[in-house]
Amino acid sequence: MIRKAEQRVIVIGAGLGGLSAAIRLARAGFRVTVLEQQEQAGGKLQQIEAGSYRFDRGPSTITMLHRFAEVFSAAGRHLEDYLSVYPLEPAARNIFADGTVVDLSSSAEAVAGQIAAYSSGDAQAYHGFLKEAGRLYRKSEDHFLNKLLLGWRDRLNPAMTAAFLSIKPFTPLHRLLTRHFRHPHTLAMFGRYATYIGSSPYGAPALFAMLAHVEASLGIYGVKGGTYAIVQAFVKLAREFGVEIQTGARVRRIVTREGRAVAVETEEGEHAADIIVANGDVLDIYSRLLDEAERPSMANERIERYEPSLSGFVKLLGVPRTYDRLLHHTVFFPDNYEEEFKAIFGKRRPPDQPTIYICNPAASQEGVAPSGGSSLFVLANAPYLSECWDWEIESEAYSQRLLQRLGQLGLEGLDQAEVDLTYTPLQLHRDTGAHKGAIYGISSNTAAQTFLRPSNRSRDIQNLWFVGGTTHPGGGTPIVVQSGQLVAQRLIEQYG
Ligand SMILES: Cc1cc2nc3c(=O)[nH]c(=O)nc-3n(C[C@H](O)[C@H](O)[C@H](O)COP(=O)(O)OP(=O)(O)OC[C@H]3O[C@@H](n4cnc5c(N)ncnc54)[C@H](O)[C@@H]3O)c2cc1C
Repeated sequence: MIRKAEQRVIVIGAGLGGLSAAIRLARAGFRVTVLEQQEQAGGKLQQIEAGSYRFDRGPSTITMLHRFAEVFSAAGRHLEDYLSVYPLEPAARNIFADGTVVDLSSSAEAVAGQIAAYSSGDAQAYHGFLKEAGRLYRKSEDHFLNKLLLGWRDRLNPAMTAAFLSIKPFTPLHRLLTRHFRHPHTLAMFGRYATYIGSSPYGAPALFAMLAHVEASLGIYGVKGGTYAIVQAFVKLAREFGVEIQTGARVRRIVTREGRAVAVETEEGEHAADIIVANGDVLDIYSRLLDEAERPSMANERIERYEPSLSGFVKLLGVPRTYDRLLHHTVFFPDNYEEEFKAIFGKRRPPDQPTIYICNPAASQEGVAPSGGSSLFVLANAPYLSECWDWEIESEAYSQRLLQRLGQLGLEGLDQAEVDLTYTPLQLHRDTGAHKGAIYGISSNTAAQTFLRPSNRSRDIQNLWFVGGTTHPGGGTPIVVQSGQLVAQRLIEQYG
């Protein structure tokens, strides 16, 4: 066997999952090259500077900080030496259509007190719900998030089966919530956690109630300099271990020989590899970089059967004024939350009245906007790409509708924005190769899509591995970082 010092690893994509794997492999002695088609690293997390306004395009809610810290500690470093983070308290503001406001925070009393203003029963149930969320989180950490599930043997051992059955895999999140709460505000506020993994609260397993525990107990963090500072820290760490990162380098084919991945092909030519770790969307990598005949277990028909996660319509607005109503994270809920998911996953059209999330980093740090200004990241849930909606035709009108809605919600002065940029699901697909523009890979709207995601190891092609949101353990920044660590660790053991 070739030992790891001579092993050449090509990582396709410099998203957080790919960088996480690259760092751990390089630290263990592998020779790692990352090939990224975009002009900067970060994948779905990109930094946009326009005039004196700075934005993160992509993730902004950063939880489970320990997952990021592990990348540094596994490399013998400390996160604090590379990145400055601070807890956000309150963590997020929820504003409902009737004007009710609930600020979520680490104080269960403070949250219950606000819920009591509209439902005393729900307020009383909050503590019990948090306890249940904590139990689900621990089960998930013990049995799901910290392991690769490469085959039936990993999945069907007695401990795993017992844990699986105890997390209510076939109970949707919404149903679990109705066992605790009655009021539509509370059901929407905690049901929204399903969207953290790109799914519907009416389909996603109850397990995702664990995110209430994650936010309340582990916290939500702001990142000095913006979320993109995480990418910069990962890139710095990777380079310290000799990782070569090439941007503007699109891989157009994975070259195989006798069932083994042996190289990747870019415009510049072939890069030989002993191991390929693909960080691009699994379904996109299979369908675009490999012939169908080479991947019988991932034939096109199978790829089409997966339901993609939801996507998002994004506006970046640089406005020369501030908004007291907005915390760092603020969510505006529609009148009817269920309608939103019927539109997105049923009709595959944007909802008439979407939930609108706004990240307003100027609320908690300086330097992201000129003094007295705001750089707002506005995200409306949107369907994955299909023949039911054409963003090339609809984008401008939808953008106007969204701005109008924000005006109705009390955010005045957006028409004076000095920066006004729009990103549709189509753009996300073109920029990052996100399959059908889905943000989180495949949805978690069924137990099968949640627990049997496309494997981290190709079943058909030796030496081809996958990290990132579409594979196990799933989407969201801390989880993709974990997928990179898990795959790297497995390779280190294999070539040890
Ligand atoms: C609008 C939006 C909001 C979000 N909000 C949050 C949030 O608040 N909190 C949170 O935790 N998560 C959030 N997410 C999700 C989070 O961004 C993703 O789960 C995560 O960043 C995905 O990382 P990844 O490792 O899967 O790779 P990706 O980020 O998908 O990166 C994959 C990379 O591979 C590259 N690539 C693909 N194919 C090729 C090829 N052939 N050749 C070369 N390069 C290639 C792509 O260009 C891309 O850079 C959000 C995402 C979006 C888009």
